This record gives sequence, structure tokens and C-alpha cells, in this order.
Amino acid sequence: MTRRGHLLLILCLGLLVAGVSVYLSERRIKEYRSEQFLMDTLVSIKVYGDDAAALPVAVAAAYGEMHRIAALVDRFPLTGTEECRRSDVCRINAMAGIAPVRVDADTLAMLLLAKKYQELSAGAFDVTIGPVMDLWDFAGENPKIPASSSIVATLPLVDSESLEINEIESTAYLRKAGMKLDLGALAKGYATEKALQALVRQGIQKALIDAGGNIRVLGSNTRNAPWRIGIKDPRQGDALVAIVTLEDAAAVTSGDYYRYFEADGQRYHHILHPRSGYPAHENMSVTVVSQDAGLADLLSTAFFVMKGEEALALADKLGVNLVLVSAAGRIVHTSGLAAHLEVLPGGAYRYDPR
Ligand code: ADP
Ligand code: MG
Repeated sequence: MTRRGHLLLILCLGLLVAGVSVYLSERRIKEYRSEQFLMDTLVSIKVYGDDAAALPVAVAAAYGEMHRIAALVDRFPLTGTEECRRSDVCRINAMAGIAPVRVDADTLAMLLLAKKYQELSAGAFDVTIGPVMDLWDFAGENPKIPASSSIVATLPLVDSESLEINEIESTAYLRKAGMKLDLGALAKGYATEKALQALVRQGIQKALIDAGGNIRVLGSNTRNAPWRIGIKDPRQGDALVAIVTLEDAAAVTSGDYYRYFEADGQRYHHILHPRSGYPAHENMSVTVVSQDAGLADLLSTAFFVMKGEEALALADKLGVNLVLVSAAGRIVHTSGLAAHLEVLPGGAYRYDPR
């Protein structure tokens, strides 16, 4: 055999050994997946690891955390019921204008986040939106456009200035009777992050949690490459407009296509502008990529309400990434996402790389 032939043979054997070991390590990794309906959405958790028996135990702990957060923020139980007593948000709302309420450390953390980003977003994000959300009743059987007079009469109750948080006492108080908190914009992401932390405590190193479009991945995928997450076309069912690649991060989308109704040829959806009380109309969808699913969920709602340029500027300032489809059909993203985003060809949108 020539010297070149020898080299080739060694190379081929080397490749074969590498291939077998990858194959073996893939064989060793077990997958466990499970789905539950939680917080008004389908939550799916997939975990990977060598120890098959440990996987369901870890997933049960993760769902435990999600159920715990869901119970804390449930705002619809009737006053005086056991469900309301277990929900911090229900008790705070019931005691609006009456007295402060002692809350769980996680509720306190969510409220502090909400207050901070209400200010940073110049009021685009506001968890005291509850009374106006109730007028629209998006979650109900027959959502309808409220009379403009009732929106105008209700808007003074949307007022984060009147949300008092006492960190030392761990209490929260809505100063005006009739005010209502609605943590729907951040609770799912916050719960997702808590679920991920539970998986990590159980020794899991690879996982994907999908809570109705709130995606959080742990580690890389089973091929040791970044996870590939699709961003939906806001007007085309299951078609995708782009793919983001992620490792150890969250990608959370807020869109006008999740919960909406149509009347007089107009689309009315569930993300409201806190100053007008009507659905925000700058964007069709906003996806935020960040290390923390709670922050990503909060910011996807905040950025959705904001004008594209303002959202991009705030995202840069906060060190998070976003990609949005504007109401005019432009796809734009922060420059930090350039290496992690693949905009798919053939969509009805105009791609404006920055
Ligand atoms: P989804 O719940 O569909 O994942 P979002 O995370 O964007 O979507 O949250 C939308 C929810 O946020 C609404 O159902 C409502 O409870 C709440 N919300 C609506 N508008 C605002 C706003 N401007 N600021 C804060 N919360 C809002
Ligand atoms: Mg959100």
C-alpha cells in the first residue's frame, strides 16, 4: 500500500470510530416528554439524560413549580373561595382600596419586575390593565367591543402609580377600589423559568419547555447543536417566517393571532395599549430572545405595544434581542440576533436586516 493509501485507511478508521461513539452516546441519551394543560395553554416539557428513571421525577418537579405559580396569579376565582385565598392576585384585587395584602416571594418578584418595566417602557407595559381587560372579555364566550364610554370611564383604574409594593413587609396594595392586577403578560414565562430551575436542581442538563409559545431551552440539543425554534407567520396558520437558534436561553412571542376576534372586518386582540384601552396596532408579532423566560415574556408584551424603533432601542439598552413583524409587514431584528436568525424566503413580508 502506498503512503497515501495508508493515510486514507487511517482516516477512514478514525471516522468510523468517531461515528460509532457519537452513535453510542446518542443511544445512551434517553428522552422523556410530557404535556399538561396549564395557565390556559398546552405546556410541553422534554428532558434528556442518561438516567431514565430520573427524567419523569424531574419533569414532575417542574410541573409542580408551574402549578404553584399558576395558583398564585389566578385572578378569576370568586372572592371568598379557597382558590381565591390561595391566589395572591385574587386577594390583592379583592382588597383594592381597602388594605395591603401579604404575598409570596415569587408574587413579590413578579410585581417588582412589572413595576420596573412599566417605567422603562414608558407605560406600554402595565399590569394594572385588569379592569379594561375585563371589559373586552377576550377569555369569555362572546368577546365584544366595549362602549367607548366604558373604556374612558375605566382607564383611570389603569394606574401603576397606585400599585404600592412593600418589599420589607412583602405586601402589595392597589390604592383605588376597582383596580385589578392582571399578570397574564409575564406569569407564563416566569413559571417557565421556575420550571427550568427545578429541572436543573434535579440534575437535568438538556431540556426544552414550550408553554404555548414561551420556549425555554436548557443546554444544546441531542446532536450537541443549538436548538432550532420556529417563529410563526402571524397570518398563515402553521407556516414559519424565521428560525432562531438557541442554547440556554428563552424565545417568547407575543402576537395578535393567539387570542382575538373579528368585528366589522377589524381584528381585536388581547394586548392592549394601556393609555387608549384598545388593542395595540404597531405589530403583528414580537419575539424576544433572552436568558430568562420571565423577562422574555414580559418584554415581548411590552415591545409588542411599542413602535418598532422604540422597541429596538430599548432592547439594545437592556441587552436582549428581538425580532418583530410590524403591522406594515416589515421583519426587523436587533443586530445581536444576526448570527442566530434565519429569515425564510417566500413570505409575504419585507425583510429589513439592520
Ligand atoms: P400570551 O398570554 O398570549 O402568551 P402575552 O404574553 O403577550 O401573550 O400576554 C398577553 C396578556 O397580557 C393579556 O391576556 C393580558 O392579560 C395582559 N396584557 C394585555 N395588554 C397588556 C399591557 N399593555 N401590559 C401588560 N399586560 C398586558
Ligand atoms: Mg408576554
